[in-house]
Amino acid sequence: MATRISDAPRVGMVSLGCPKALVDSERILTRLRADGYRMSADYAGADVVVVNTCGFLDSAKEESLEAIGEAMAENGRVIVTGCMGDEAAMIRARFPDVLAVTGAHQYEQVVDAVHDAAPPSQGPFIDLIPQVLDDEGGVKLTPRHYSYLKISEGCNHSCSFCIIPQLRGKLASRRIDAVLREAEKLVAAGTRELLVISQDTSAYGVDIRHQEQSWKGRQVRAHMTDLARELGQLRTPEGTTPWVRMHYVYPYPHVDQVIPLMAEGLLTPYLDIPFQHASPGVLKAMRRPANEAKVLDRIRNWREICPDLAIRSSFVVGFPGETEDDFRYLLDWLEEAQLDRVGGFRFEPVEGATANILPGAVPEEVKEERFQRLMEATSRISTARLAAKVGRILPVIIDEVGEPDEEDGSIGATGRSQADAPEIDGQVLLRDVPADLQPGMIVDVLVEEADAHDLFGVPVSQR
Ligand code: SF4
Repeated sequence: MATRISDAPRVGMVSLGCPKALVDSERILTRLRADGYRMSADYAGADVVVVNTCGFLDSAKEESLEAIGEAMAENGRVIVTGCMGDEAAMIRARFPDVLAVTGAHQYEQVVDAVHDAAPPSQGPFIDLIPQVLDDEGGVKLTPRHYSYLKISEGCNHSCSFCIIPQLRGKLASRRIDAVLREAEKLVAAGTRELLVISQDTSAYGVDIRHQEQSWKGRQVRAHMTDLARELGQLRTPEGTTPWVRMHYVYPYPHVDQVIPLMAEGLLTPYLDIPFQHASPGVLKAMRRPANEAKVLDRIRNWREICPDLAIRSSFVVGFPGETEDDFRYLLDWLEEAQLDRVGGFRFEPVEGATANILPGAVPEEVKEERFQRLMEATSRISTARLAAKVGRILPVIIDEVGEPDEEDGSIGATGRSQADAPEIDGQVLLRDVPADLQPGMIVDVLVEEADAHDLFGVPVSQR
């Protein structure tokens, strides 16, 4: 008698929060797939739903609770994981029927909870139906042409508004050879853009004393500059240089050493530096790392070495004790710094953060008014910086290609310039692209127009 193989159980995943949480979700799904599970794109088809939550801000917590509520209503068999896992009692009080609550990076517990909820019915080798996998058999939630490369977890700082060190623990860096091996495999498998992420990329390796490993016959340290140099040596199977973008960089002195690599075209000329404020008083109250007065000189110097350097940052307005003078200082600083991309936030107390007990709470209407002024100023700066790109030819990585127009058959596409990280920055909207254009290709684009966030153009050649 033939062995009857029942259908593999299906897991739904709702992934909230930052790119780091997305990487966690990918890891969980990779493990589950190795155990024979399949993914479900909707609630109805899932035997169990994992909700990977974000608990950083109260608004993010609310969004996570809403997502749990939706998964409970639509499916009813729900496992909660991620940053809000620390608040199991609160989650259970609101949703007594959730199957399990586990914390961030507790992959084993999530996988065990899934096994309990929907036992695996077959071995991984029986399931022949293809899934979206990378070449290592990993499940990818990002498109194949870009991938996040997580170099460390946790953080050694104690910024007063942040509870990440409590949630995720102290800095724990990965070995440099493991990071480089992963990067190399991703590029061999089709990744054309690597996004280096961590809580503090500049501090990479501090916890392991910048331990050296042998890599391709060279000794390389677990240090941001060695990492940048080695990532700059990667080549795609076609022999081109993949884009490598550095996120969450603090302006420690050694950052100066990666700028020449950007000028040489080995690293993408892009730095994501979460400055959060500029006024020395507010930065001190925030207890920010690398808070030094000469940052504007450094930025000027970086741009002299690499004129195309794009800097993205985020800023908080209405931090306790922020005066009108502090806020004006920030606006003046931004005029000088001419950052390319800026995200603005109104200060929100986070449960457990020391900033909550600081004196000088800023009234909500003042926060709102400052937020609007910040957005107006940064949008004006961004408009001018993007307008200066009109007429230039820039490399653009393609994210999506549209269908031919019903009337004239023309095809449009969306992509990003080197100044645009996926999901957080702007886009380049292309007209009249060749029919064989594919996501992940890098094309030279003549920029024809610009607005406050995006560029518009037409391809002139394919690289
Ligand atoms: S550097 Fe500050 S804001 Fe960033 S994770 Fe560490 S404590 Fe939080």
